Amino acid sequence: MDFSLTEEQKARRREFYDTCKELDKKKPPSLVGFEAIYELDECWEYNLSCAREFAKRGWLALAWPPEYDGRGDMMDKVLFAEARGYYGIPGVDIFGVQMLAPTLLQAASEEINREFLPPIARGEVMWCELWSEPNAGSDLATLSATAVRKGDEYIINGQKTWNTGAHRADWGFGVFKTDPSARKHHNMTFILLDMKTAGITVRPIPYLDGSAPYCEVYFDDAHVPARNIVGQEHEGWAVVNLLAGFERSGINEIMSMLRGLEQLVAYCNQTKRHGQPLARNPLIRNRLAELACELEAARALAYRVADLQNRNEMSLMDASAGKIFFSELGERFAFLATDILGPYGQVRTSRWAPLNGVWEKMFHEHFITTISMGTNEIQRNIIAWYGLGLPRMR
Ligand SMILES: Cc1cc2nc3c(=O)[nH]c(=O)nc-3n(C[C@H](O)[C@H](O)[C@H](O)COP(=O)(O)OP(=O)(O)OC[C@H]3O[C@@H](n4cnc5c(N)ncnc54)[C@H](O)[C@@H]3O)c2cc1C
Repeated sequence: MDFSLTEEQKARRREFYDTCKELDKKKPPSLVGFEAIYELDECWEYNLSCAREFAKRGWLALAWPPEYDGRGDMMDKVLFAEARGYYGIPGVDIFGVQMLAPTLLQAASEEINREFLPPIARGEVMWCELWSEPNAGSDLATLSATAVRKGDEYIINGQKTWNTGAHRADWGFGVFKTDPSARKHHNMTFILLDMKTAGITVRPIPYLDGSAPYCEVYFDDAHVPARNIVGQEHEGWAVVNLLAGFERSGINEIMSMLRGLEQLVAYCNQTKRHGQPLARNPLIRNRLAELACELEAARALAYRVADLQNRNEMSLMDASAGKIFFSELGERFAFLATDILGPYGQVRTSRWAPLNGVWEKMFHEHFITTISMGTNEIQRNIIAWYGLGLPRMR
């Protein structure tokens, strides 16, 4: 792919960066890391206000077709994600805007698109993902929550778990077993549901530190309109795979690491140990330089995934390769940063915490991305099976 930008693209990139820079000035200091958006009311409110700002500019509908009031193209979407990642600005619902909307555009009926896309573009409706269950994570196809068709409704029963931000979400998209007698992968349906539906109970899962950005969701005879399906009835697995590709391509994470690197380099230039700036330590310099190279490689990989998406040529393997690389790079980065910061790097809410305690938080959050969106072991299986044609192990 050609990496050079046209003059118009450069101008739009400036607009994205300028807008995010302005929004950064209003960001609550408590917004450190991704989980805070779902944990803290002030961060959630900020998230919604950023969504409104972006919606006004049409940026929540980037790369959508004109019939759904889309603006710009895939490259604009990438440049916008870069700007948001660099400044750490929320406001783009990862579930609604990033995952569900492109999936609907490829797999849903026009009726569904006309109903569900406009509120996403207006930043009015926030979504959550209702896939994993206590006994179905990596092997999602073994899920057991059911949706039984009765007339023009499904009656849903069962439990989902690890649902990010489900306590904040207005709507959820889930997969449920609709034909227990059919063979695996052809027995489930992808369903959109209002989280306020009677019979749905959301329970946050508390962390040891008291925060709870993830939830369990229980369904007890929840009635959902049967027309709220995406794709064909019983063929939800195809929709899951389509959406998973959008879930795993992450340029904004890479840009947020790039900003983190700049801040860490500044810290190393300003902080003296044994009378010398840290930046003069050859070991530290070497490791920072190595990381800078890896980040450039990650960025090129993310551009490649975006380019393939643009041409509708993205395979599962491409998204998996990007996901493995950026999540494990994040782990290496967090390890390096806390190593350089020393023991105080392990402290978050203290006046002794360097760089606002961000690396204590990042150490946990980067680890999470190796599990969420499908574990990296599973991504490696996808590459082995579907990408390289290697045999499955028994
Ligand atoms: C922070 C966080 C946020 C999440 N958010 C959401 C969300 O919003 N919505 C949602 O639906 N889910 C969400 N999940 C769930 C996530 O998708 C699952 O945790 C993930 O798919 C793994 O499933 P599991 O936890 O059941 O682990 P398991 O599937 O039980 O796996 C346990 C271990 O075994 C390994 N393993 C399993 N099978 C194989 C295999 N065939 N080959 C090699 N290794 C294997 C796994 O890699 C893992 O290391 C989230 C999870 C986390 C941690």
